[in-house]
Amino acid sequence: AAASEVDVRTDPVSTADGRSIEVAANVGQPAELDGVRAQGADGIGLYRTEFLFLDRQSPPDEDEQYEAYTTALDTFPDGRVIVRTLDIGGDKPIPYLDLPDEENPFLGERGIRRSLDSDTELFETQLRALLRAAADGDGDLAVMFPLVATVDELDAALETVDAVATQLDAENVAHAVPELGVMIETPSAVFAAPELAERVDFLSVGTNDLTQYTMAAARGNENVEALRDPTQPAVLRAIARTVEAAHENDAWVGMCGEMAGDPELTELLVGLGFDELSMSAVTVPDVKAAVQSSHTDEASAHATRALDAATREQVRTQRNE
Ligand code: PEP
Ligand code: MG
Repeated sequence: AAASEVDVRTDPVSTADGRSIEVAANVGQPAELDGVRAQGADGIGLYRTEFLFLDRQSPPDEDEQYEAYTTALDTFPDGRVIVRTLDIGGDKPIPYLDLPDEENPFLGERGIRRSLDSDTELFETQLRALLRAAADGDGDLAVMFPLVATVDELDAALETVDAVATQLDAENVAHAVPELGVMIETPSAVFAAPELAERVDFLSVGTNDLTQYTMAAARGNENVEALRDPTQPAVLRAIARTVEAAHENDAWVGMCGEMAGDPELTELLVGLGFDELSMSAVTVPDVKAAVQSSHTDEASAHATRALDAATREQVRTQRNE
């Protein structure tokens, strides 16, 4: 359909020359689900499961989680819902989970590290709920792991998925193994991206953490604001390398950090080759419109220039050439 006939509040979009790009929304609270649909998101690109664990005295059990995941899937019968497994630690504490008192929690036990080490039972429970929801919910489920730093961690997570599927089989409980992916949030994951991509269906770039760890500049710290910018050339090059590694290994690649929600940067992300972008729901219509006005050739020339730039100022002005 011509761009003019496409309604960004309801329809999927493609670039002016016809390349489809999935534009999805991030969800951090259950109450956001309806608004996300109203804004025209094609699906959920990052469902932050931490909220299921907050403001309570003990973790949600398997059935409660199953309900939450199927509700999200039923909201997008024709779309995809990417659920991230529990990502606590760092800036995301949960009182009853007894997180260690670390001098530097951002470099400590957080994300997948906790799931594989201290919270293994919780991880299995969450995966059981997810595999059951994958079979029963209307939309397509995808599951991704946060803060992966090594191939070993991914292998261990994938083994746990296998073990959980075997358990459910033995119990005759309906289930399906969803699409599986890895968040790229650490420089080590960027360097390991080919091997990570070989093992999964997709990669999703978390620019908030990837910027923090690449630039050694804590998220939320205003004293280092200029460094906390995903258009810093080093971060942009890390992102480009991730996209390449995904595509060379038959994986699709998305972005779910805040960078994805900046319509000023949409053409650049299209040019880098992203298949999916996920952002806070309010920016979905603007990003969809920016996708529609992009041309893949121009966008990719724009990306090439940006990748040659030496400063973030130069990265940001490439689109005007
Ligand atoms: C990110 O780090 O970019 C991300 C999307 O995850 P979160 O903001 O929840 O850490
Ligand atoms: Mg993150």
